Amino acid sequence: MKVPIKIPEVLAPAGSLDKLKVAVLYGANAVYVGGQKFGLRTAAENFTQDELREGMSFAHERGAKVYVVLNSFLHDKDLAELPDFVRFLDEIGTDAVIVSDLGVVQAVREHSSIQIHISTQASALNIQSALLWKKAGASRIVLGREVSVKEAGKIRREADIEIEMFIHGSMCMAYSGHCVISNFTQGRDSNRGGCAHSCRFEYSLEGLDTQEKKKAYFMSSKDLEGLRVLPAFIEEGIDSLKIEGRMKSHLYAGTMSKVYSEALKFYAGHGHFLSDDLFKWEEELGKVSHRAYTQASLVEKAGAESIFNERENSTQDEWQMVGPVIDASPKAGIVIEVRNAFNQGDELEILPFSGDVIEVCAHEIMDLTMKAVVRTRPSTLVRIPYVEGVQSMYLVRQRSKV
Ligand code: SF4
Repeated sequence: MKVPIKIPEVLAPAGSLDKLKVAVLYGANAVYVGGQKFGLRTAAENFTQDELREGMSFAHERGAKVYVVLNSFLHDKDLAELPDFVRFLDEIGTDAVIVSDLGVVQAVREHSSIQIHISTQASALNIQSALLWKKAGASRIVLGREVSVKEAGKIRREADIEIEMFIHGSMCMAYSGHCVISNFTQGRDSNRGGCAHSCRFEYSLEGLDTQEKKKAYFMSSKDLEGLRVLPAFIEEGIDSLKIEGRMKSHLYAGTMSKVYSEALKFYAGHGHFLSDDLFKWEEELGKVSHRAYTQASLVEKAGAESIFNERENSTQDEWQMVGPVIDASPKAGIVIEVRNAFNQGDELEILPFSGDVIEVCAHEIMDLTMKAVVRTRPSTLVRIPYVEGVQSMYLVRQRSKV
């Protein structure tokens, strides 16, 4: 008898309510979001309590889960407001909170029955650490990015706890949560949500021979991309595959959710990948802004090849979002809320929730009064001729004009 394959969940970042909806509609099984406090992305839009409530309903109605990050390292004065927030999260049906501080673990246990996931900030890398967190009440560990998929499988089996791993996105050059470069260079505390990505900057190296000075991105890591490692994640029983990037765009949230969920569904049905599909998915992953990709330590320990040190390695074939489709029918045409301007005659791509990209040419653009438009403006609604299969909430993109 064929043993069913256990497929990991695709866990997407949602920096705003809009992005949550995009990620869920494009196939994410779960999203992680931040409230106004206690998370590590102070520069992300973050959710108000009303937005958290709405996001929770939107996701749950579509069978997706919502995890709320509470992974900042807190001082006693910060803890005072936590119980109320935790009770609120419990009341709205939060599926889990992502935590790195033992004091926060304790507060969540005392004031709610919400599942506790241990953040990658805690740098759990081994079985003993996983067992201890389990004893402290955790139901899942988000392992440090330094752990390989094989090691993660062993931790999962021996500690008998759910395991989440990063599969895609920007990387820290330091062990996550153990970096203070931003604190010293920018006065911004990376462990309390203020990372200024100082490791991505260009630095100059002064050797013993002071004549020799080299400028480069010594500490900047390439971006993680684990598409071809999916079979190993499945084989090792990893429960959740996390995509980094709450600060990234709607197009990023949609593309990543779509590619990884489609790839996993294909694998579940066939037990293998086809090269043509892998190339197609890789092409899609290449259409979002990124540094050169690396598998980092997913298979073998990351080495010098994981350092992104040449500016020209950035993606050249960059695409940007034109805007979401607001309405689509033979009568209304395709109504787009323009976020980035496009011109009459431009070639556009519409990203369906599943299946192949729909290519359209904006040979005719009208505003809502049916007046012809030659160049659109951001924050306006325009319509282009209808194309079969397009529906509301699909994202429209265009190759960036460099
Ligand atoms: S500066 Fe770089 S290594 Fe340090 S926390 Fe920020 S992203 Fe990570």
